[in-house]
Amino acid sequence: MTARTETDDPRALAERAGRALEDASALEILTWAVDTFGARFCVTSSMEDAVVAHLASRVRPGVDVVFLDTGYHFPETLGTRDAVEAVMDVRLITLTPRRTVAEQDAEHGPRLHDRDPDLCCALRKVAPLEEGLAEYDAWATGLRRDESPTRANTPVVGWDEKRGKVKISPIARWTQDDVDAYVAEHGVLTNPLLMDGYASVGCAPCTRRVLEGEDARAGRWAGRAKTECGLHG
Ligand code: SF4
Repeated sequence: MTARTETDDPRALAERAGRALEDASALEILTWAVDTFGARFCVTSSMEDAVVAHLASRVRPGVDVVFLDTGYHFPETLGTRDAVEAVMDVRLITLTPRRTVAEQDAEHGPRLHDRDPDLCCALRKVAPLEEGLAEYDAWATGLRRDESPTRANTPVVGWDEKRGKVKISPIARWTQDDVDAYVAEHGVLTNPLLMDGYASVGCAPCTRRVLEGEDARAGRWAGRAKTECGLHG
């Protein structure tokens, strides 16, 4: 039902697969993605945890896992990236922005993230990801519906209008308890900051610990209207 044909419009393919796979398991969704896109499929990971990378490597050992190094990450995040590369059966690809933080500071002034976080995210996240994803037709993310109201309608397979690619969120229907259970069962690497009060881990200047009762992404760009970096919005 969700097989790809030569003449398939990729948007129609994505929408059809999203409906057909809504109740499928994460492994079934990833198996469809690997069967459909082969080497033109990758996983993107923020290195908050390696759950989707682990799932995908079970389906396709050596799968491409793309990490975006903005230059502003916590050391714990870079350490998680290094550990994933060392112990998991994946091909880790690190994308970097065109300019270093020092070069950006020279051009735009220091702490652009405080003055214009949308521009900072556009330069350090959105642009390098778009360049890095050019060789793929489909990418998988770890987005979950329970993370925030803005993610409540995330399809398990959808069409990424901005990039013209199929976007797969195999754990969209999972809860935090599902993630915790998978991590415990499979000994999956997680970012140490998750044990230190952080519920969602992004760039250091724009991430704080969450308070009791806050949703998982409340610690990202806290105090600002901004809730997404532009990768998923
Ligand atoms: Fe810049 Fe903050 Fe966006 Fe990171 S999350 S790219 S530091 S604005």
